[in-house]
Amino acid sequence: MSRTGDLRARIAAATTDRRVVNAVHLAAWRKVDARAESFAKLPHVEALRDKAAQIRQHVIENLPRYLECFVERATALGAQVHFAPDGAAACRTIAQIAAARGLSLAVKGKSMTSEEIGLNVALEATGVRVVETDLGEFIVQIDHDRPSHIITPIIHKDRRQVARAMAREFGCPYTEDPAELTKIARRHLRDIFRRCDLGITGVNLGVAETGTLCLITNEGNGRMTITRPRVHVALLGIDKIVPRLTDLPIFLKLLARSSTGQPMGAYTTLINGPKRPDDPDGPGELHVVLLDNGRSDILTGPLREVLRCVRCGACLNACPAYRNIGGHAYSSVYPGPIGSLLSPLLYGHAYDDLARVSSLCGACRLACPVQIDIPELLVRLRALACTRQPRAKRVLLRLWQWAMQTPWAYRLGQRLMRFLPDDGGGWTRHGPGLLRAWTDTRDLPCPAVRSFRSIWENELRDEH
Ligand code: SF4
Repeated sequence: MSRTGDLRARIAAATTDRRVVNAVHLAAWRKVDARAESFAKLPHVEALRDKAAQIRQHVIENLPRYLECFVERATALGAQVHFAPDGAAACRTIAQIAAARGLSLAVKGKSMTSEEIGLNVALEATGVRVVETDLGEFIVQIDHDRPSHIITPIIHKDRRQVARAMAREFGCPYTEDPAELTKIARRHLRDIFRRCDLGITGVNLGVAETGTLCLITNEGNGRMTITRPRVHVALLGIDKIVPRLTDLPIFLKLLARSSTGQPMGAYTTLINGPKRPDDPDGPGELHVVLLDNGRSDILTGPLREVLRCVRCGACLNACPAYRNIGGHAYSSVYPGPIGSLLSPLLYGHAYDDLARVSSLCGACRLACPVQIDIPELLVRLRALACTRQPRAKRVLLRLWQWAMQTPWAYRLGQRLMRFLPDDGGGWTRHGPGLLRAWTDTRDLPCPAVRSFRSIWENELRDEH
């Protein structure tokens, strides 16, 4: 995927748009509070988080075994399982399923995995019309925008923007009333649901033991998407597996609470194969597309812990950097702390700069239901990115390392620092030469009039 502008420019643009900053701040804080309140009522929260982390870690360490088991059971239930090594292969597979059956109108549930591979654009290019049915994603689609949060795609929009988009798209009278706006969207989507022939969803978790697909939504659109069309395609990242059906309740308890503060998602659907003869509804065909797209490489690398992620979005809400710049500044499908890790791993080194969008305060680690040590992984990612820095920068860093380990060079550096300007209050805010860029975004404390070392030497002298 391509990126727009450089990171500094995007952050500068994002922070000057006070409307977006305020909207994101308010909505994210609300979710942080709701999560805290909801977790306070849940007994044995830490034990549950421990268990969830253990299960996910165990799965990623034994992934081939669990994947094999999942494929076997899902196939036995009547699902057709397809492997997609990358995003292009997944898009091709889904386009072929549609073309072979003459399907032309797809309804889609919210799926970050489909955003990751650009599925909508790929399908539209083959003549399949794709309509988002999650309300937030639907508004993003009709407003030709991009989601800015993995759970709350329009966290950056206020109701006036939604109202304008609806009035423009449907030619209806302008209203800012959320209930009215929802009714307008529902009327439109009902008609689409009546006519659609293909349903596409992501999957929250696949169960290896039973081949079950677990899907959690809040609007009921997920159920409509899987039951109304004659063909259902479920896109599942190979990492999103749990071993047993009895593991699911642990994640159901943590996921919605982490995302929105709800005790449970409003609709939890367990899908066991396509429609059977005595079922009242359901799709005639169920296709599960298992997407790798770089996950196998992550699995064998130093950041494999990131694959524990269940995409709850709690780390985004908790992150002060995300709350101040919003999701679009990351210029990636995956924003926030988890996006800063996933984006370079999935899309390549052009996204390495995102590892710097963090103060490493640790709020994301505390919020994560599967206890991913995001700050530690970001530091590892920064270290890896350093090895790819231009030669001149690497030489400079080596010099810095040498000076910090060599007493006379360290002392000389301390003396030289006394020539830095005091821009007020004992801080250098506009450093000269090489320090200029560094002090553009940070303040450097001026050295004390007397160094600790000289005070210490004096003390020792006085004692003797
Ligand atoms: S890293 Fe943790 S908190 Fe962030 S989205 Fe993934 S599971 Fe949720």
